[in-house]
Amino acid sequence: MSAAENTTSFSLTRRPLELRRRRVAVRSVERLTPAYCRVVFGGADLAGFDSLGADDHLRIFFPPPGAPLPQPDGDELPAGLSSREYTPVSWDGVESLTLDFVLHGDGVASRWAEAAEPGDEVFLGGPRGSLVMDGAPAWWLLAGDLTALPAIRRHLAAVAPGTPVDVVLLSDDPADEQDLATPGALNLTWVHPADASQPGDVAPLLAALESLPVRDGEGFAFIAAEQSVVAPARGYLLARSIDLENAVVKGYWKRGDIAYHAPHGTAAAS
Ligand SMILES: Cc1cc2nc3c(=O)[nH]c(=O)nc-3n(C[C@H](O)[C@H](O)[C@H](O)COP(=O)(O)OP(=O)(O)OC[C@H]3O[C@@H](n4cnc5c(N)ncnc54)[C@H](O)[C@@H]3O)c2cc1C
Repeated sequence: MSAAENTTSFSLTRRPLELRRRRVAVRSVERLTPAYCRVVFGGADLAGFDSLGADDHLRIFFPPPGAPLPQPDGDELPAGLSSREYTPVSWDGVESLTLDFVLHGDGVASRWAEAAEPGDEVFLGGPRGSLVMDGAPAWWLLAGDLTALPAIRRHLAAVAPGTPVDVVLLSDDPADEQDLATPGALNLTWVHPADASQPGDVAPLLAALESLPVRDGEGFAFIAAEQSVVAPARGYLLARSIDLENAVVKGYWKRGDIAYHAPHGTAAAS
């Protein structure tokens, strides 16, 4: 790496976005791997949709299984909807938006995505704020399970050409491995839990982090997976003298919790 690359720097700033409710309908559903499904939504309400930060999330409001989406009551969302958090993958700001769903079997959102068909409707809310990066990190570390793959794909697209980017991805089943694209110099490792371990077990991910090269300069780290990743991942970053203000570490779901809600902000606040 050149001296110039070593001294590149960046900052993370939180920016608010107007919170809008949108009624959208499924346009297409594509099973990318056995446990990973891509849903394209459409609708006039998507005009003006934007998402400034790679790890933004929006809230999807699902109707009860088998029921149509009710009409809102004035400005209020109808009662009886369940909501979950998902990452915008791509959008045209006019009438379409793509989201990716992990099919883990047991949950309102997972079951909805597994059965989704063109025409099915949901409400969307958000994103209500974004963590926006200005500048260029000297290196990137992106790690997580399949729920973090949409955010990791968005981060990968923002890496400056040739910049080192270490990626560790965890999937319970090797059949869910996917190709990734980036202008950066990609060092990609897929890991999978041992047979007897629980779904989403973060141990192999943490072990793989220990094997990554130590890189010079000011880098950006993003680590998101089952909630038990948070404390050891923060410890890992501190042991490598990585500034937690320059990092995002999040539990994207919590084993045994329904509709787990992660705190917002950098790793310094998580
Ligand atoms: C900021 C943010 C962005 C996110 N973006 C995405 C995204 O783009 N795509 C995506 O698929 N997920 C994403 N998630 C994770 C998603 O919100 C959770 O997995 C959510 O709990 C799924 O809802 P559910 O109704 O399917 O399950 P829930 O009803 O919430 O949970 C039911 C049961 O399933 C378990 N469970 C939940 N998720 C998983 C999982 N992934 N694997 C195994 N067990 C699970 C729970 O522990 C619980 O026991 C994101 C989370 C956050 C915080």
